[in-house]
Amino acid sequence: MLKQFVPNEICLKCDACCRFVQQNSRYAPVLLSDSFSDSTCRLSLKPHKDIFICQNFSPESNSCNIYAHRPLDCQLYPFMVTYNKEYENIVLVLDAKCPYAKVITGHPEFNYTSLPHSFVMPYQPDTIKITTIKNLGGFKALALEHKPLFNKYLNNSEYSARSFVNIYIWSDLFNILWKIIDNNLCVFYEYKNEFNMLISSPKGMHLLKPGGRIENIAEKEIKAFEGAGIKIHKNTDEYIYLAKDIAELKGNRFSSQRAAKNNFIKNNKFIYRPFVISDIDECLNLYSSWAKRKMGTHDSVYHQLIADSFSAHKKAMLDYEELGLTGRVVDIDEKIRAYTFAFEMNTDTYCVVFETADTTIKGLSQFIFSHLAQDIAKEAKYINTMDDSGLANLKKAKLSWHPHRTLTSYIGTV
Ligand code: SF4
Ligand code: SF4
Repeated sequence: MLKQFVPNEICLKCDACCRFVQQNSRYAPVLLSDSFSDSTCRLSLKPHKDIFICQNFSPESNSCNIYAHRPLDCQLYPFMVTYNKEYENIVLVLDAKCPYAKVITGHPEFNYTSLPHSFVMPYQPDTIKITTIKNLGGFKALALEHKPLFNKYLNNSEYSARSFVNIYIWSDLFNILWKIIDNNLCVFYEYKNEFNMLISSPKGMHLLKPGGRIENIAEKEIKAFEGAGIKIHKNTDEYIYLAKDIAELKGNRFSSQRAAKNNFIKNNKFIYRPFVISDIDECLNLYSSWAKRKMGTHDSVYHQLIADSFSAHKKAMLDYEELGLTGRVVDIDEKIRAYTFAFEMNTDTYCVVFETADTTIKGLSQFIFSHLAQDIAKEAKYINTMDDSGLANLKKAKLSWHPHRTLTSYIGTV
């Protein structure tokens, strides 16, 4: 536990900390795992009067209910670990908004060079830089601000894995770094001791160590990589459907999905509505219950995927608006029983990035997918539901919806 920098009597009279303007604030405190390398978790905020407060904050006493065990960034404040303006360095800053900031002098002896990037806050303009903690070696750390640049380079790719949304939502689990090399966008990820390439270009291969992987190679890029001496293997298929097929569920091909959907409509009083930010906690609770049920039935790879996906679901919900997501939920008895998110990938395709439904409610999953497809069909011709992660059950489920076509991606090894 770090010593509190700001004297108690100052803090108790101040109303700045532990309160936030937005429920999905990117500045909410982060709980780190003990090892600093596993998944981290941003604390949820709850409404209070016209603002939002940390779930551990007691407004009556103006104090923290878990003070002795509060997250590291709460202990550090008014010092913060952020990116610099260019997202090329991780820096220790002093938040000039804290009234005590002007009083603090001296050089704190921090050395948190191994912090996961999920702990690092976005660039903050109103701060006083104390020191650079870590230079990112010519790479930039991925941030929401980079979405327009990624969109320009990814150029409406038909692969869902090569989209800003599908890269960004994993940035609390992996350290995602990028750089432009000879006018090619090269995106890398660090996880434990691995350093691999997420968005490929033969131009960035020299940055990988022997055994390093190049993921998401498109069919048309195979020759260029093979020419550079990279061994290429088939990875997984992405599944692409006609939005109209899923929306209408016409004909014998869709008889089982149609029956399940109709059964759901007939037997339930429900509300299908847009997702709002205040739904986050309920949606994540639904995900946790869904995950618990799934854990009993599959192998360890699937378990890891389910555990990792929690972080991606949460990240997507927190940055829902900035990412341009379309979210829908289904309420039954005033409780969220299913949610789904999609985004516009290119001019004719939407990607369905998540769908979670209470599996004890018959036909709910078929209902929400088909209903979302009705919304999408007004805007786009195709739906991409991403890949099957190499899981046989997921592949079977995706094939049962009769994809219009599949799109193979490849993986290369240095
Ligand atoms: S802003 Fe500064 S003075 Fe105010 S509560 Fe936070 S740490 Fe204390
Ligand atoms: S954990 Fe405690 S100190 Fe940190 S924001 Fe919440 S109430 Fe404030």
